Amino acid sequence: MARQPSTKQLSDWDRTYLWHPFTQMQEWEQEKPLIIERGKGSYLIDTEGKKYLDGTSSIWVNLHGHRHPTLDRAIKKQLDKIAHSSLFGLSNPPAIELARALIRILPKGLTRVFYSDDGSTAVEIALKMAVQYWQLRRPDAGPKNTFLHLKLAYHGDTVGAVSVGNIDLFHGRFKSLLFPTAEADPPYCYRCPLSLTFPSCQMACLDPIEQILKERHRELAGFIIEPLVQAAAGMLTSPPGYLKRVRELCTKYDVLLIADEVATGFGRTGKMFACQHEGVTPDLMAISKGLTGGYLPLAATLTTDEIYRAFLGRYADFKTFFHGHSYTGNPLGCAVALANIEIFQKEKTLARLQPKIKTMARLLQPLRGLPHVGEIRQQGFIVAIELVEDKETRKPYPLETRVGHRIAMEARNRGLLLRPIGNVIVLMPPLSTSIPELKRMVEILQASVETVTQPRADGPGS
Ligand SMILES: *Cc1c(COP(=O)(O)O)cnc(C)c1O
Repeated sequence: MARQPSTKQLSDWDRTYLWHPFTQMQEWEQEKPLIIERGKGSYLIDTEGKKYLDGTSSIWVNLHGHRHPTLDRAIKKQLDKIAHSSLFGLSNPPAIELARALIRILPKGLTRVFYSDDGSTAVEIALKMAVQYWQLRRPDAGPKNTFLHLKLAYHGDTVGAVSVGNIDLFHGRFKSLLFPTAEADPPYCYRCPLSLTFPSCQMACLDPIEQILKERHRELAGFIIEPLVQAAAGMLTSPPGYLKRVRELCTKYDVLLIADEVATGFGRTGKMFACQHEGVTPDLMAISKGLTGGYLPLAATLTTDEIYRAFLGRYADFKTFFHGHSYTGNPLGCAVALANIEIFQKEKTLARLQPKIKTMARLLQPLRGLPHVGEIRQQGFIVAIELVEDKETRKPYPLETRVGHRIAMEARNRGLLLRPIGNVIVLMPPLSTSIPELKRMVEILQASVETVTQPRADGPGS
């Protein structure tokens, strides 16, 4: 057997051959990469044997910890049968069983499962289904093929998903490739675009949304939204009742509600799906990240009977949804996703999560008093700490100061891995994280924030 390359060797090869996502490679090439070789529970372990707490669930995917025996076993068992066969004109047991299991846990009314590979493709599929649905349902009416979305939305990095996204730093330079959309201000209460305060505002930010729907519903196929938490925007949590109102408005104006639960799905917000907090059933829904417990890339777009039925007809009607991917319905992915759902039931993951959500809130309390912590947002096991240069005026740190990045580096040295979004520190540990581990994470987080933002006699904040 080939000898395992040394850390030094891997480190050189990484910097010679790899191109990392969302990474300035010039900087990367000058640093020593952290190379994760294994994991166990809430920990990641590097090639030197050093352990780190996984504070971001390996970028929002892991749920039950690394190397969970049930998930490991499900993959090994499926591997003994077959790794992959196609869903084009064929079927396979894990894909069938997973679809059935999903329908049982999804918001009521979602009855069909269309598989793909990642969050971006699940979103693309939802957009295409929405456009084709309206063509099929109203063949003689004018085109109903544009989308409404919120500013600061993030729905993935493929071109269609970027079109309904709005994070200028990521998306701005690709504008020429994107289709036009309608945009509305998000419910970002800490920096309210209307300078109002919840609840006395009565969610006035929904008025311009209703205005757009009223004026443009004839051309709007759907309103795509990240329910409860706009994740990549910096974990912006929407006020209670907001999603329900969005659902009502979409129904009123006959515009499909597309829920992107790629980040919020599978317990992250405290319920299985974010929509369930407000008793909302979207017309289309995208899921991915937690679907396999963070093990393999797999995604699904879910929809209602109403939409599904619009695509039915004789072959020659050409109502078929002409979309698919090479790995659609991959048996290994589906097998581990099925085991993921079993764990939720067997281990009562959601019931056991509730006290931990409360503990998390209590642990974070002291951080609110720190001089550069502007706001702490929490929805279930999703936490954001927005840092500000000036707490009084809420003036953000200039992006070039990389305050989030410096805090993450500090935390790494202390054994906690984080991936900030600009000035927002995200803490989103696996749902299986124990209370002592949680305490340790918040301890390290607080120490790292203090070290980096400590007011100095000659610096800002003094
Ligand atoms: C991560 C994410 C996506 C994109 O998923 P990928 O698997 O990275 O393509 C889409 N929507 C939301 C809300 C996400 O957080």
